[in-house]
Amino acid sequence: MIFKKLEAVFGYKKFRPLQEEIINRTIAGKDSLVLMPTGGGKSMCFQIPALCLEGITIVVSPLISLMKDQVQALQSNGVKASFFNSSLSSFEEKEVIQDAINGQTKILYLSPEKLIAVKNSWLQQLTISLVAIDEAHCVSMWGHDFRKEYTQLNTFRKSLAHVPFIALTATADKSTRVDIVSQLALEDSKLFISSFDRKNISIDVRGNVTKKDKLQQIVNFINSKPNESGIIYCLSRKNTEELSAHLNSNGIESHCYHAGMDGQHRAQVQTDFINDISKIIVATIAFGMGIDKSNVRWVIHSNLPKNLEGYYQEIGRAGRDGLASETLLYYSMRDVVLYRQFAADSANGEMQIDKLNRMLQFSQAKSCRRKILLSYFGEFLANNCNNCDACSNPPQIFDATIIAQKALSVTARMNESESSVMAVNVLRGSQNAKVYDKEYHKLKTYGIGKDISFYDWNDYFVQLTNLGALEIAYNESSALKITPFGWSILKEGKSIQLSKPIAESEKKAKKTKSKKEPKQKVNKALFEELRALRTKLAQTEKVPPYIIFSDKSLEDMVTIRPITTSKFMQVSGVGQNKLAKYGSQFMALIKEFELNNANTKTTTKLVSYNSYIGGLTVDEIAIERKLKPSTILVHLVECYLDGLAIDLMVFVTEEILVLVKDAYVKCEQPITMKPIFDLLDEQIQYNDIRVALAILKFNKRI
Ligand code: ADP
Ligand code: ZN
Repeated sequence: MIFKKLEAVFGYKKFRPLQEEIINRTIAGKDSLVLMPTGGGKSMCFQIPALCLEGITIVVSPLISLMKDQVQALQSNGVKASFFNSSLSSFEEKEVIQDAINGQTKILYLSPEKLIAVKNSWLQQLTISLVAIDEAHCVSMWGHDFRKEYTQLNTFRKSLAHVPFIALTATADKSTRVDIVSQLALEDSKLFISSFDRKNISIDVRGNVTKKDKLQQIVNFINSKPNESGIIYCLSRKNTEELSAHLNSNGIESHCYHAGMDGQHRAQVQTDFINDISKIIVATIAFGMGIDKSNVRWVIHSNLPKNLEGYYQEIGRAGRDGLASETLLYYSMRDVVLYRQFAADSANGEMQIDKLNRMLQFSQAKSCRRKILLSYFGEFLANNCNNCDACSNPPQIFDATIIAQKALSVTARMNESESSVMAVNVLRGSQNAKVYDKEYHKLKTYGIGKDISFYDWNDYFVQLTNLGALEIAYNESSALKITPFGWSILKEGKSIQLSKPIAESEKKAKKTKSKKEPKQKVNKALFEELRALRTKLAQTEKVPPYIIFSDKSLEDMVTIRPITTSKFMQVSGVGQNKLAKYGSQFMALIKEFELNNANTKTTTKLVSYNSYIGGLTVDEIAIERKLKPSTILVHLVECYLDGLAIDLMVFVTEEILVLVKDAYVKCEQPITMKPIFDLLDEQIQYNDIRVALAILKFNKRI
């Protein structure tokens, strides 16, 4: 039953990890707490039970825009769903209530405020079979998004003692989890935690990039993926405006989103982004909350995020549809200094600085980034991910004792009172006025590191710090201090290994298939046509394009090229409702496309097919197309096997079918036709055998 719903309603072929178990448990009437990352597929965990159970399912969700999105998605799959929140007019409210009471609604989304307001009125008249609490961390003071109304869910739960409750969230540390269970009074609840690894999201981190280079790289990055949606996160409002202006002046349309804009303008920017009207948003971290857009293809951080939690959440807005998505992070020490100042002035500054340091460590690391990231969230990856910049550029280790000694020596000679910037200047024999003012040009170490570039020295200082040979005294203008380990390298000649710095320009880019490959180009062209059709339909129906079909569905259409109903059903995300509603339009487009791109294999057979259906004989088509009649017959047979309507029995008789079947069995299902031809004493022509085999196979007679 649950598989049937998955396939027929949602158009998916299999469950993701844990979904099936959670669904079965919920249908059995038990409580659960589900922790899954954004895009992990939490909704399915209560939507399928909702469809299997009698009565109505109530979903409590605090984010109005998400509610609307989910309801639209459900409706597009033919599920009777609606929402009840402050955005409704009183007329609309009445309608929703009426439908719910009349049993017209299967899934009803409620904001917590409304739930509290109505729980003693019309809600009492409903036969509630399941309650789902989305964003369940909001119930806990330990969470980062506490909502007072959520605490009242406790009495609601107690009033529905025999109804299963399922609480879902993407963020909850241990104490929050405990709190959710007790606050919601979940009974005998089971905790489900799925992996937080989002394999489809690539990770790339770049440090030590000048502002000019960064801007250029961002422009190049975006230009390499026209038409795709992405978000760029910046530190400040000013940054967003500058960057957006820069992009626009380079012919890339982008829009700002930050707290300084008025609410209406902000809402418009968000809506246009959701509807694929605008593709690129340059935002402060305020953007993205409560957006379910599944086809965000990339996320760039133009500045270092404050902590790994925020970073992971933000890159997680890419690729909710499970398709490959890219992320890029730029960091500079300037960001770090700035944050430290902010943090120092705030109440829990120490904790913030700790988190910032972890963020920085992650950015400067040279080993698999996903491993580091997930380990921060308590998950251990056995293998490197092969989808991050560190994995594509494994470090080259060498004995760097002399280099380290030079770095430590200059630090010591400047009495551990200078930052790495000055240290590098002195090592490289810079003519900088500050060097002369402080008479560092007289030091023995002045100019002893000329042979190493400024960039590489910086990298070595970072590595020495990360390896614990140096420490940075942030409270003394980032002066370098030598640790006991550092002294042992300097004084006792203890050896140390470092990795060769790699300039960003030398980094191997992730292997992306050449876009120039003809097949890819054709595929891209078809994708764009499908996308345009999707946009047109979305505008007519006033829903976001991804509600009609996800990018994943469009990609499947490009690969499968379905032109029959049964093939169209193989496309991920195509359930019965979408098949009925959109199938013919998309299939017509694909067919048309195939015909217009006549050199592909699929197309050539379709050309033959269309001529045949149009009334020509096999021989006539062969003459017209300058091909052999047997080739035309092969085309027709392939179309038949693809499920296209064509009667092949006009070419053979039932008698031939029986003979061929016998021979096929006797020859132990040969791969070629020759054994059959021989066994039948060369009496049946190859063409007839071919047709007979197709008919037998298609009708499952062999
Ligand atoms: P979450 O609420 O955890 O952020 P969603 O429930 O919105 O995630 O699911 C993310 C996307 O994955 C949606 O587009 C959803 O339809 C899709 N999805 C969920 N389960 C499956 C599945 N079993 N197979 C394929 N796609 C799925
Ligand atoms: Zn990796």
